[in-house]
Amino acid sequence: MDKIQVRDREFTISIPEAKILQRVSEVAQQIQHDLKDEHPLFISVLNGSFVFAADLARQLTIPFNISFIRVSSYEGMASTGELKEVIGLSESIEGRPVIIIEDIIDSGFTMASLLESLRRQHPADLRVCTLLTKPGNLKADVRIDYSAFNIPNDFIVGYGLDYDGFGRGLKEIYVVDTEA
Ligand code: 5GP
Ligand code: MG
Repeated sequence: MDKIQVRDREFTISIPEAKILQRVSEVAQQIQHDLKDEHPLFISVLNGSFVFAADLARQLTIPFNISFIRVSSYEGMASTGELKEVIGLSESIEGRPVIIIEDIIDSGFTMASLLESLRRQHPADLRVCTLLTKPGNLKADVRIDYSAFNIPNDFIVGYGLDYDGFGRGLKEIYVVDTEA
């Protein structure tokens, strides 16, 4: 389906499933190439990155660990830029190569605060892997090591990302229809 309704808004397909999976596989190859013998720890940022993390993990053939954290809640369609604390990281990351898995980097403030918080725990290496980036909105100074897609500044839903809690199970990525 090219058009869908989530809650009170209509959305149009933006990235089909096959294209997403193809890029996820390419990103996985890049990561394996870069961190072959390093036994990295992936830290997936909930809720939005759970689908991306699951697909990425199944494309990797190197040994790795994966853990899940939560940093902020995002309500409605505007990023607040508010920095919230990191919840749920139970293991030590000291001396380990760490790769953060995020669904989307918009202003970059969430990622900047997360990087700052994780750096204080002295990982051996700290990289950022995001499914989506909105380069036109990026304000924080973050180095994005792996990004599957650059997209315009429009609100999107699907493949783990929600609108008001809904739409996370959609296999494709959809963009909101702007009201005429
Ligand atoms: P940032 O701090 O980079 O501005 O915001 C990052 C967070 O905002 C993401 O992790 C995500 O939760 C949310 N976000 C930003 N843009 C979108 C979007 O287009 N759709 C959805 N569903 N969430 C978004
Ligand atoms: Mg997120």
